[in-house]
Amino acid sequence: MYNIEPILHPLGSGITIIDLMEGGIQGRTGCYVIQGEKTAIVETGSSLSKPYILAGLEQLDIRPEQVDYIIVTHIHLDHSGGAGSILPHFPRATVVVHPRGARHLVDPSRLIAGARAVYGELLETAFGEILPVPEDRILIREEGDTIDLGGGRVLTFYDTPGHARHHFSIYDPVSEGIFTGDTIGIRYVKQFTGLEFEPIYPSTSPSEFDREAVFASIEKLEKLGAKRIYHGHFGMTEPATLAFERTRKTVAAFVEIARSSFAPGMDWTILADQLKQYIKEDMAEQGHPVQDLTPFDLDQAVNAKGLLYSLEKEAKNR
Ligand SMILES: [Zn+2]
Repeated sequence: MYNIEPILHPLGSGITIIDLMEGGIQGRTGCYVIQGEKTAIVETGSSLSKPYILAGLEQLDIRPEQVDYIIVTHIHLDHSGGAGSILPHFPRATVVVHPRGARHLVDPSRLIAGARAVYGELLETAFGEILPVPEDRILIREEGDTIDLGGGRVLTFYDTPGHARHHFSIYDPVSEGIFTGDTIGIRYVKQFTGLEFEPIYPSTSPSEFDREAVFASIEKLEKLGAKRIYHGHFGMTEPATLAFERTRKTVAAFVEIARSSFAPGMDWTILADQLKQYIKEDMAEQGHPVQDLTPFDLDQAVNAKGLLYSLEKEAKNR
């Protein structure tokens, strides 16, 4: 029915990741399908990923009317930009979002304006159309709230700022895993980097990155004693402690690098190069010397901008 071949990876415990092929690239951004008596998907990606989700669900023999929940960990466009566009395909589905994100799904004009400022006329090329979600199709989940998928699969939501303030994470008792969006680091998988190992580095993107909030979110999620982490980018880390440790270490390192070279009005490219230098040394330290860091370029540009933004803000408030 769809003119594409979706790439699916079964992860056990009734969880499958559908590759959203963001930017036409494998292993970048994923949509998780959680199958209980009810079905939930986590993340839609942008509307450009819609055909992959629909074809992926078809491959899993899930009919559109069987999708009950579309959960978005936060409202960055690479996670939820396509929510309004895909919702009409699922007649019974509810979009589940953090309290701070809901109004931007209902009225995406501020999201679009913000993204337009960054991407200009390339916005549609990068993320496709961004359509509103009707208010009566939205379910807000706050700290400790749950969703019951039936058969003992009760998902619990936790407020986890750090990457963004409109970010929650979801604990699933069946897999003993947590869907952490971008809060507990990005896992750089083989399909994306071409490397034989899969390192984890943080996303410190603008405009709400907050180091202390990341540490508090790690501490909160660690207490759940989960076994695995499901990253927004990309796939699963097992044991979960590895993702927590890596994120704690590398966020601290990134902020320290940014602080030590920071000057107001500083050129972000200088910091991006320093972050890449750190990544190079850190990978070598883990026994994986790598020369070509091209797959990490874009994220370090974004990370450098986010770190500088947070330091500028801090300097102004002083
Ligand atoms: Zn993301």
